[in-house]
Amino acid sequence: MSKFESSIQRTHAMLRGTCHCGAVTVELPSAPEKATDCNCSICRRSGALWAYYEFGTVRITGHPENTQQYIQGDRTLSTVRCATCGCVTHWEPLPPELGKRHGVNLRNFDPKVLESVRIRRFDGADTWKFME
Ligand SMILES: [Zn+2]
Repeated sequence: MSKFESSIQRTHAMLRGTCHCGAVTVELPSAPEKATDCNCSICRRSGALWAYYEFGTVRITGHPENTQQYIQGDRTLSTVRCATCGCVTHWEPLPPELGKRHGVNLRNFDPKVLESVRIRRFDGADTWKFME
């Protein structure tokens, strides 16, 4: 295998995340450049780091058969977690229309993915603005 091929394979493997038990897998269409660390009442509890993609472009397996969903507040999204290990894997837009914003929790990926990601703190609890 050439150096080029092995680096492609490594990149590909890093774009695939799983919950802790492996029942849910999430495959990104491209490497994330930014992630959002939000302090709203639900994000601060899950500790998620969100990268955003268009709904329909992220390949997810084990969902909905191995997941549970939580819909709250103004019901604009559904937060999804593994029914076995409880890890929050993503959120889906409601209604679930293709192309809408879709959040993926980068905490379920190889920690190396985060090394090249710019993490932005978002004040979802109060001002609904980035804190920078
Ligand atoms: Zn799991």
